[in-house]
Amino acid sequence: MRLPKVNFSYNLSKGSVVDRLKKTELLNADIFNNILGLYKDTDTVSLRQIEKVYKQSLPEKIDLKIKKLSQDEKEYSGGLFSSFFNDLQVSSYRISLPVENNLFNIIDIPILMHESTHLLDHALNPKINKNLEKTFIYRGLEDDAVDFYSSHLYNPTCFDFISEAKFINFKKQLRNFLSEFLPKDQIVMLNNFRQSLSMEVHAYHEEDKYMSLLCKKKDLKKIYNPLVLIERAMFNLKINLLNNSLKNIIERERNI
Ligand SMILES: [Zn+2]
Repeated sequence: MRLPKVNFSYNLSKGSVVDRLKKTELLNADIFNNILGLYKDTDTVSLRQIEKVYKQSLPEKIDLKIKKLSQDEKEYSGGLFSSFFNDLQVSSYRISLPVENNLFNIIDIPILMHESTHLLDHALNPKINKNLEKTFIYRGLEDDAVDFYSSHLYNPTCFDFISEAKFINFKKQLRNFLSEFLPKDQIVMLNNFRQSLSMEVHAYHEEDKYMSLLCKKKDLKKIYNPLVLIERAMFNLKINLLNNSLKNIIERERNI
């Protein structure tokens, strides 16, 4: 059986965290230009054409499919989903996109660039998939953590408004949630949460960059501001809190 390919080789992924973020951004720039090239005389293209651009633009082959958002993914504007082999090992990626009559509109390119950032951040960081597989899913933490993540860390309503009360409430929820787990599991979950939110911040920054570029190149109007979304969802405040909680737990464990 062919082994799934979900990470780029060491040659591409070596270096510091910042090096890898830069690498994602370089690859995104290339992908954006190639995607935009599809829209010379049209405002819509098929997902197959987009998939082909990925096949041609990625420096190494990875298992990736581009699909339309399924019925139960409709609450999201787009998404990067991983498939699991034997329920444990990440075996492929799927980028899900909004379509109309099965065609992807030029105005949604920033959404694609957001998901593209997630894809490349994953493919360039073997640790992310390893953490997910070995420490997270294997230990049966996934359901509880996903539930907390999608109720309190990142969901469509977290973008509604920013308020201190909302953040205080989040702090309380986090404390209650963690209190149900052993410190070693709290560490696994906090690591997963902060990694996921940091990747969101990166993806929204890339989305914003390409929204501005697209609007400039095609004389379009910016329909929303992804940077405002980062602020309203309080991603950076949450990441700081997660980092501090993690630090405290590790210190406490060391002193026992
Ligand atoms: Zn995202």
